[in-house]
Amino acid sequence: MGRGRVHLKTAGRAQRLSELSVQTGAGVAKPSGNGAGRVSLIDFCEPSVPGGTEIMAQLEGSQAPLEFGGPLGTAAMLVLLPATMFHLLLVARSGPARLLGPPPYLPGLEELWSPRALLLLFAWLGLQAVLYLLPARKVAEGLELKDKSRLRYPINGFQALVLTTLLMGLGVTAGLPLGALPEMFLPLAFATTLTSFIFSLLLYVKALVAPASALAPGGSSGNPVYDFFLGRELNPRIGSFDFKYFCELRPGLIGWVLINLALLVREAELRGSPSLAMWLVNGFQLLYVGDALWYEEAVLTTMDITHDGFGFMLAFGDLAWVPFTYSLQAQFLLYHPQPLGWPMALFICLIQAVGYYIFRGANSQKNTFRKNPSDPSVAGLETIPTATGRQLLVSGWWGMVRHPNYLGDIIMALAWSLPCGVSHLLPYFYVLYFTVLLVHREARDEQQCLRKYGRAWREYCKRVPYRIMPYVY
Ligand code: NDP
Repeated sequence: MGRGRVHLKTAGRAQRLSELSVQTGAGVAKPSGNGAGRVSLIDFCEPSVPGGTEIMAQLEGSQAPLEFGGPLGTAAMLVLLPATMFHLLLVARSGPARLLGPPPYLPGLEELWSPRALLLLFAWLGLQAVLYLLPARKVAEGLELKDKSRLRYPINGFQALVLTTLLMGLGVTAGLPLGALPEMFLPLAFATTLTSFIFSLLLYVKALVAPASALAPGGSSGNPVYDFFLGRELNPRIGSFDFKYFCELRPGLIGWVLINLALLVREAELRGSPSLAMWLVNGFQLLYVGDALWYEEAVLTTMDITHDGFGFMLAFGDLAWVPFTYSLQAQFLLYHPQPLGWPMALFICLIQAVGYYIFRGANSQKNTFRKNPSDPSVAGLETIPTATGRQLLVSGWWGMVRHPNYLGDIIMALAWSLPCGVSHLLPYFYVLYFTVLLVHREARDEQQCLRKYGRAWREYCKRVPYRIMPYVY
């Protein structure tokens, strides 16, 4: 039996992944021109290379290269992400609303800490947990795990959105002061941040006793800060309650809609009626959240569910970052009303429609293809075979760029900011941040696809040279 040391070139730097024993039908797989003892991963991943599939299987289980700048980068993000969120909350309500520059003031603990806000947050999480546990229209199976099992997930997120809306409607009719919520954003965001830290710590401790097969590929580096940030356990559960799946699309996303609605109600209280710009922002973002929940099953094949562990990155991201920063445009509009005429509003609606058409078309095409490649809507598309038995689409939306769904998402992000006018940079934070996030996410996904599909992925990249934006990137 021979031994091969496998290297993956990441950002120009060869990183040792693991030492793999390679026994193939034709003897030991030989390096192909990469220097003695160093074997290109891509050479092994080719279906025609004997043992390529087995090596891929071992690679899937090997330790992934460190991401997000390793322990230092993740330590910085533990501070920077909450700091940015509070900066945006403070700046949105300040007169100058300057994105770049110091916040108008630093709030004291008495302004941040409120037992009432904490109680409200727990009531919200409790309500969403109860809705999660209600009978679902469907129970879906996730992808196969390392131990060959599959987890089951309730598909009732859209139902949770509808029931929450009904409950809120009833509440407002009965005198619930929804318009008072914006005054509580700071203590609510503080309570959510604190809860996310404690929750991530509990998840980290829980993962210490989890079997190795339950750990995420990236979150068990051994560095506590890095693992705390990325998340050690892939699918932490108590019984059938899946914490990551629950947080991914419910409390934060539905919370975002509720925050937007509270801002709209507050604007109506202050100015007699909500502005056209506020209606557009609320409508577009409600469509986005409704779409995510309607197609909830698709989340089961995303990187967040299949690859990333559940740690601070996703817990804080889902529970705090999404509702409090994604609602930035509506927050800005409440404190800085913007005139918007119908012709411009229609033009913005057109941009939103184009973005949504690309986003939904691309996501549905891939989901249909992954579920059933012989479905008539995708059966005629051109594909590239891979060593894993799966195929890659190389025509249709996925033949235009390698991440057409990201392109649609970015176009929609622009449509959400445009109703806020062009006098301030602040409402454009979301487009800028989201573009950076998706460019980084695209690079992470490419690395994972290269690990999964090897030469077939390289062939795909040759056939579809642009990543997100045709002829630009
Ligand atoms: P994607 O839906 O883009 O999925 C990437 C995966 O698709 C790859 O790993 C690969 O997995 C498969 N794939 C890639 N290329 C092809 C191809 N040519 N043919 C067939 N399959 C292919 O992943 P995300 O989870 O990043 O995004 C899902 C949606 O969520 C996107 O629309 C994105 O914009 C959105 N999103 C929104 C965020 C927000 O904060 N609003 C944050 C992140 C994402 P495999 O081969 O294993 O199937």
